Formats: sequence, C-alpha cells, structure tokens
Amino acid sequence: MSVQHNRDPRYDILFEPVKIGPVTTKNRFYQVPHCNGLGYARPKSLAAMRGMKAEGGWGAICTEEVEIHPSSEISPYIEGRLWDHRDIPAHRLMTDAVHAHGALAGVELVHNGFHAPNRTSRLPPMAPSAMPVDAYDPVHARAMDLTDIRNLRKWYRTAAINARDAGYDIVYVYAGHCMTTLMHFMLSRFNHRSDHYGGSIENRVRLTREILEDVKDAVGDQCGIAFRFAVDELLGKEGMSSDGEAQDVVGMLAELPDLWDVNISGWSQDSSTARFEPIEGYQEKYTAFVKSMTTKPVVGVGRFTSADAMVSQIKRGVLDLIGAARPSIADPFLPNKIFEGRIDEIRECIGCNICVSGDNLCVPIRCTQNPTMGEEWRRNWHPEKIAPKVSEDAVLVVGSGPSGLECALQLANRGYQVTLAEAGTELGGRSTKESQLPGLASYARVRDYRTNLLQQKNNVEIYLDSELDETAILEFGFQHIFLATGSHWRKDGTGRHHHQPIPGLETIPTFTPDDLIAGQAPKGRVVIFDDDHYYMGGVLAEKLLAAGHSVSLVTPAVKVSAWTEFTLEQERIQAKLLNLGIEIITSQAVSAIKNGELELSCTYTGKTKYIAANALVLVTARNANDDLYQTLKSSPENLDAAGIKTLEVIGDAYSPGSLASAVYYGHLAARCFEGESWDAALFEGERPGLVS
Ligand code: ADP
Ligand code: SF4
Repeated sequence: MSVQHNRDPRYDILFEPVKIGPVTTKNRFYQVPHCNGLGYARPKSLAAMRGMKAEGGWGAICTEEVEIHPSSEISPYIEGRLWDHRDIPAHRLMTDAVHAHGALAGVELVHNGFHAPNRTSRLPPMAPSAMPVDAYDPVHARAMDLTDIRNLRKWYRTAAINARDAGYDIVYVYAGHCMTTLMHFMLSRFNHRSDHYGGSIENRVRLTREILEDVKDAVGDQCGIAFRFAVDELLGKEGMSSDGEAQDVVGMLAELPDLWDVNISGWSQDSSTARFEPIEGYQEKYTAFVKSMTTKPVVGVGRFTSADAMVSQIKRGVLDLIGAARPSIADPFLPNKIFEGRIDEIRECIGCNICVSGDNLCVPIRCTQNPTMGEEWRRNWHPEKIAPKVSEDAVLVVGSGPSGLECALQLANRGYQVTLAEAGTELGGRSTKESQLPGLASYARVRDYRTNLLQQKNNVEIYLDSELDETAILEFGFQHIFLATGSHWRKDGTGRHHHQPIPGLETIPTFTPDDLIAGQAPKGRVVIFDDDHYYMGGVLAEKLLAAGHSVSLVTPAVKVSAWTEFTLEQERIQAKLLNLGIEIITSQAVSAIKNGELELSCTYTGKTKYIAANALVLVTARNANDDLYQTLKSSPENLDAAGIKTLEVIGDAYSPGSLASAVYYGHLAARCFEGESWDAALFEGERPGLVS
C-alpha cells in the first residue's frame, strides 16, 4: 500500500537511498546509537521501541552500545550485550522489528576499557596503560599486553559474526565519547605505551585499524562497517581535536569503514542540552571536515528537528545521513511526517535530556515530549495511535499546562468532544512560563506542538481567561472533568531539608520562582536557597544576575543543581554559574533569619554562620493546586446532581514533578479514560519469575 504524501519537493533529497558498503538505507534518516535503560534487561521493550522508529520511517536504526565481553561491563547501567551466541535471540527481536518496516538495523559494538569498572563480572578492567578507572571505584585498569590485544581483536571479530547472525545490517567499531578502549588507545594522555601500539599517532591508531580490518574481513561482505569516532573533545591540544589529530585519524582510515559516524566528546557535549547548545546543527563546526577527507558516507548529529536544516546539511556537503538520537525519541515518526507533508505535526525535542536521565538512573527511557517512549511494549502505547472513544460523553479539561494540553489532545484524538478552560490569557502553563527563563526557550515546544494540533481540531473548544470554580464546573453539565490546575512553589522554606518553616522569614523580603517569573523584582543582594536540586535554582541565579543583582546560591547538596548530573548538565551548570560570578555555597542550608541576616547551617556538622542578604528566594518544594479538586470531591452528591460521572486530578495538581511527568500523567489519564486500567500494564512488565 503506498502512502499518500504531499511533500514539499525541497525535501525529496532526504528520501534518497544511501549505500553503506553492501547494504543500502532507504532514506537519509539515521537513528544513531543511543542508550535507553532497556538494554540487555528488557529485550522486548527494546525491540518494540526500536521497531516503532522503523515504523515511523527511519532508514536505519541502531542499538545502544553493546558490550562484546564481560571484561567490559558498566553495571549497574543497562546497555546492550553480545557476549556470545546465547545473546543472539534477544538481538533478533530487535532486528526483526526493524526489518519489518524496511529499515536497516545497526549494532554498536563496544569495549569500554578503563571506563568499565566491571562491578558485576569482577574482572580487572583493561587500558592501554595502567591507571585507575574513570569512576571513584577503588579499581585500577591494568595495561593490556599483546595477548590482551589479540583477545580484544578476537572478541570484536566474534561479536561481529554474532551480530551478523542476529540479523544486523550495520556493524560498528566504536571509538567515541572517551568511553572506549579504542579511543583510549588513540589518546596520548592515556596511551603511554612504548611498543608499536603507542607513541606516534600511527601507532595509537593501529589497534583501531586492525579491528576495523578484522570486522570487515569477518562480516564486511554482508554488513556495512560503521566507524563511530569523536573528532573533538573540546580540550584543545590536550585531546582529540578536529583541527589536530582527528584529521590524521580520518586521513589514515579514510576509506576503511563503509560509514563514518562522527560526533564530539564527552557525552555531555555530544548530547548537549538546549540550555547549553540552543541551535540545531551545533556539531557542524567540528565534524564538517570529515566529508572532505573520505568518499564514504558521513552521518552526524546536532538535535535536528527541522527539515530545512537537514536539507541544508546535505546540500552543503556537511553530512550524507541525518543522524538523530533525541529527535527520534521525541518523535519516532519524524521521517514519515516530513514524507507526508505534515511538518507542523513534528513533536520537536526540547533538548532537556530527561531521556538520558533514564539511562543514568538505570531505568527505562522516558521523554518529555513523547510520553509513549519506553512504553511501546509494556503499555502497548503507540505515539501516533490511540483507542477510539467508547461513549459520546463530553469532557472538560481545566488548566492548559503540559498535563492539561496532553490530556485534551489525546482525548480529542480519541474522538471525544473536549473543552479546555484556562484561567490565564496564554496556553501552556509552566511550559510557557519557564520558557522565559535563561536557556529554557525550547520548553515552549511542549506547548506549541500540542496547541497547534488542538487548534486544528473541530471537536475541541478552548477558552482562555476562564478561571473555573466549583459552581461553574457543576453548572456546565460535562460528564467528565479532568483538573490539571498545576502547582505553586512554597514560600515557607520547607522541602527536602526542612520539614518545618524556616523561622524569621517574615523579617526579610522573600520570593518564590513563581513570584520572579511573574515579574516581581527583589532589591539588592539576593540569596537563593535551592533545596530543589534541578534546574530552577540555577536559572533563577542567572536571571537575577542579568538583572544586576549580586547573587549567592545556597544548597544543602554538595554541588549545584545536583539532580542535573543525570541530564549531563551538572558540571556545565556549576562552571557557568562560577564563571558568571555567582557565589556558590554548598553543604549549607538557610536555617533561620536573625537580626536581618541569614543563618546558614552546615549539612554535616550543624555549625552555623551568618551572611547578609536583602532578599531571599526559596526554591524548595511545590504544593499541588488541588483545592478545586478537594472541594468538588468532598461533595459527591453535588457531582451526582450535576451529572458528573468522573472527576480526576492530573499532572502537577495531583503530584508536582517534572515537565515530563506532567505530560505523562496527562497522557495516561486520556488513555485510561473509559478504557485501560492505569496500573495493569505494570504487572505485565519484563520481570524475572520462576513460573514460565
Ligand atoms: P501541569 O504541569 O500539571 O500541566 P501547570 O502549572 O503547567 O500544570 O498548568 C496549570 C494551568 O492550569 C495553568 O495555566 C493555570 O493557569 C491553570 N489553572 C489553574 N487553576 C485553574 C482554574 N481553576 N481554572 C482554569 N485554569 C486553571
Ligand atoms: Fe528531547 Fe527531552 Fe525527549 Fe530527550 S527527553 S528526546 S531531550 S524532549
């Protein structure tokens, strides 16, 4: 069956096939390897997630890094494994799911060197030279001798053969992110060898060359051989750099792989959040040289979500294939939407790295924009399909934040008549408000994707400037009510550290994030007490500094924005705030206001000290705006009399959390409405059991 399309011919170039050695992709949309917290532990979930992207039109779909041997395992993180032939059936699930939609399946074979502390296998890690592992484990990697090198070559070769037998079309040799043995060999700061694998760049590249040749010899007649290489570590001459040794490496290996997959290192630079790299194509300045040095196709990334930017990369000779991890997570159907001329329906990645947090926390991937991500198998959710309505009942959604918008959109997709009421004069709730803060402009995409679609639907009515109270809701006559009324920041200092209000707050001008976003302006020297630990404290520090304040940020944690470690931002946030001149006071809590000064107490010793401040900003915890819900719920007889069959509270109004959780709960509520139970799927998960 052919798909109808109304595509702009300018985008035709994106649908041209590209030859990768003996295999050919059907188009230029290439999902590069990405971690996901599913890996070896949840093969059915993984296969369903990858298969969904193939259904959505991606021409090639790759695995995450796949460990080739137990001497390289990064537990507790859940990556792929192809230790021996017994892992083949699990990989078959993925390759079959991908092939079912005419896409190529690629596998990123990895040996992690001293990046792998081998916490489960308990084998000593290996490296070009002896050194501690790059985690704080009391573990050292030993220098590989020539037997180890021979073994590594053998493992790579065996894994490549197993990969081919598992159905993979593209087999990777991976030297990237400073997390791989091959990259460790290439970098002079790690490779202090005096044999012919150390010293000159030719020698340091030798092992990579040998393994590329081995893999090509083993499976190159049937599989395309991809080489993933980080061309710049942003360390200048201290590391691999695109105007230095990377040119030597590309020059030496130019025609050896069938595909160059190029990026930058470390991972936090490669998967930079929009807060630090707001522009798509941000890697071009590093990777652009590669195409001029090889005739082989080149794939690269840059959080590409716009068809025009993609075409520009191809036409200007920067890339041959548009690589994407996060854009394919946020919208598995991005290629099909371009193909079918539905560009305005693309669910654009906001660059928040909540997806990455799943991997870093060893739990299944999730996505702010795409609530179905990671739920394709467990909940049988499809990003573009939802069960049709089961009644003619009308639904009222109160509140147009991420949760209300997502709930309204999915209910409308099901065919229900939906009314959305918003108290304010703009749609979007916190996604609109927070998008005005430094570095968070892309958060508006959470609103824009949904409002664009909602406004096109003739079964949706949207009312702005419509704050609804109990009386209005009871009078309207809707049978079903979803309250997505959001949350507000607490003004008493309670949160994780304090479980009682901070004494003396009434003696100092005190502000919450809501106050500052609403335009209230403190005067003079401001102290932020950040007991939230995500992005809000840091971005408010930037905002206040830009407004001319002297700013200190006090946190009970040992570092600023501690949770952003999982979104790969923590080090960059701390460096940025320090470079801006914001004073950072860690391991301290604001414990009282006394005599016009802030009392700080040490998290470890309780010892106190005093600092001066003209104003205090409390970024501690949020309270659900659930008064309306509690009032309505407390009078079931009124609900009955009004003909209200269901009343639900969703998103932050139910339980304050991330943008991702607000969208997720809005989606879940719409899916479960007159349908599936919200928790049944969780009992069906991939879990070990003794009963077959
Ligand atoms: P969430 O993250 O759960 O979606 P937000 O705080 O982003 O929550 O959005 C909540 C939205 O609900 C805000 O735009 C707010 O103006 C709106 N809202 C709150 N109470 C009412 C009400 N009683 N009537 C209509 N809209 C409301
Ligand atoms: Fe993009 Fe955020 Fe989704 Fe990751 S979680 S794909 S960064 S929107």
